[in-house]
Formats: sequence, C-alpha cells, structure tokens
Amino acid sequence: MTRTIAIANQKGGVGKTTTTVNLGAALVERGRRVLAVDLDPQASLTLALGHDADALPRTIYSAMMAAMKGEEASLADVLQPTEAGLDLLPASIELSQAELDLTREPLGIYALRDSLNGFADGYDYILLDCPPSLGILTANALAAAAEVVIPLQADYLALKGVDLLLRTIGKIQKRANTTLKVRGIVLTMADLRTLHAREVVEAARETFGQTVPVFDTIIHANVRLKEAPLIGQSILAYATDSPGAQGYRALAQEIEL
Ligand code: ADP
Ligand code: MG
Repeated sequence: MTRTIAIANQKGGVGKTTTTVNLGAALVERGRRVLAVDLDPQASLTLALGHDADALPRTIYSAMMAAMKGEEASLADVLQPTEAGLDLLPASIELSQAELDLTREPLGIYALRDSLNGFADGYDYILLDCPPSLGILTANALAAAAEVVIPLQADYLALKGVDLLLRTIGKIQKRANTTLKVRGIVLTMADLRTLHAREVVEAARETFGQTVPVFDTIIHANVRLKEAPLIGQSILAYATDSPGAQGYRALAQEIEL
C-alpha cells in the first residue's frame, strides 16, 4: 500500500521542504521506495535534491495540465533520480501558471490526484511538498493525500496559523477527500535550551493535542540542516550523526509505527 502524505503549512520557512527531503531520505534508509513531489513554484525541493529547475525538460506542471485535460499524464518523462535516493517529480517557476489555470477549472483540485493515478503503485511513500499558501496547489496536495503532516516552527507566532490550516483541511475532508487524516504536527527548529521553545512545545501539545496528534519527535534547530541542501544532499548523507539526521530518523520511525 502506498502512503501519500502532504507536508503542509501555509506559513513559509517552517521546515516543509527540509522535512520532505530528510523524512524521505530517512524512509529510503529504512528500505522504503519514496517519491517526492515538488508543488512549490519556487522549486526549493527540486533544488535541495540537487536539480536545476531551469534546466529540466519537464516538470510536474505538464503532468498536472495533461491530467486536467483528461490526457494521459506521463510522469515517467518528468521523473528525476536524486542522490538522496528518493525519486523526484520536480517543479519550476512555470508551476505558478498552474495556479491560474487550475483555479479556473471546476475540477482543478483533482489534477495532481489524477496525474498520480496508476503511477503511485511502485512506491511505499509519496511525499507532497506544499507551497507556503492555501491556494489551489496545496488544495491539490490535500485532495491527493491520505495523510497530512504539519511542520510547525517552535515559535508562538507560528502556532497561530495552524487553526486556519486545520479549517482548510476540514473543508477538504467534507468534500474533495473524505478520508484525509491529519497524521500529526511535527515541531521543527526547536532550540530546547531556550525557555521559549520549551513553552511552545508545551503549548502545542495542550492546544492541539486533543484534536490533532503531535509527534513525540521534535526536530531541533541544527545548522547542518541548512547546509545539506546547498550540495543537493540529505542530512543523512551530509552529517549522518547530527541532531538533524537523528531527528528525521526518529520521525521516520514514528511515521511507520
Ligand atoms: P518551508 O519549506 O516551510 O518554507 P524550509 O524547509 O525551506 O521551509 O526551511 C526554511 C529555512 O530554515 C531553510 O533555510 C532551512 O534550511 C532552514 N531549516 C529548516 N529546518 C531547520 C532546522 N531544524 N534547523 C535549522 N534550520 C532549519
Ligand atoms: Mg518549501
């Protein structure tokens, strides 16, 4: 069975792309076959996995547009291997055009789901790296996924945005994807030496713990996580014993429980 997981939070800079790369690499380390899909026109995931978005012949954009027109979406032409061991469906800035095109289509929310249809079978996990907005691209991810993982920066202001995201997920659950589940909130960039971060971890467990699971694993602030994407590597390869690598291994283990 393929597990399709949307990594979503409309706030930018909370660790979505970092989580997609390194959770994916940690699942690969556990022997799983993982496909990562870049749904951000800024193409950070594509870059972090070592590909130059401007040099790619095809991106997820063409597959989604084909699916929307009811044509065969040939994802095999879009697929790129990565050094981190995940397969990648890359993005480029042309995906920003999809936001316009898909919003105009009555069934534009299903473009990704339809394009992945039949292609998913070869994978244990499909990780969908969402853009920092609640627009049609994130809606496509939520319509295609079975589960949502919400990275949340261990910071008070970041807590505020989660309600809006949970409301959006609620709407999708009512209409486009009734079986969608929030798998959990993962606290990221936590510096537990500070009282502030420890308080935010407490507050997140109190505020959301009743309605939405909060992962036991906390991803600590670790500068190695910033360095790895510059050379297109996962943290597991770049700094295999770092707190960042250990954090994402623990998260992968918790996801597989
Ligand atoms: P998003 O995809 O939500 O916009 P990113 O994953 O791109 O967020 O992370 C934003 C920035 O923070 C990047 O520069 C990334 O390298 C850095 N970062 C992410 N997680 C951590 C962490 N645990 N510790 C330190 N820096 C991090
Ligand atoms: Mg990102």
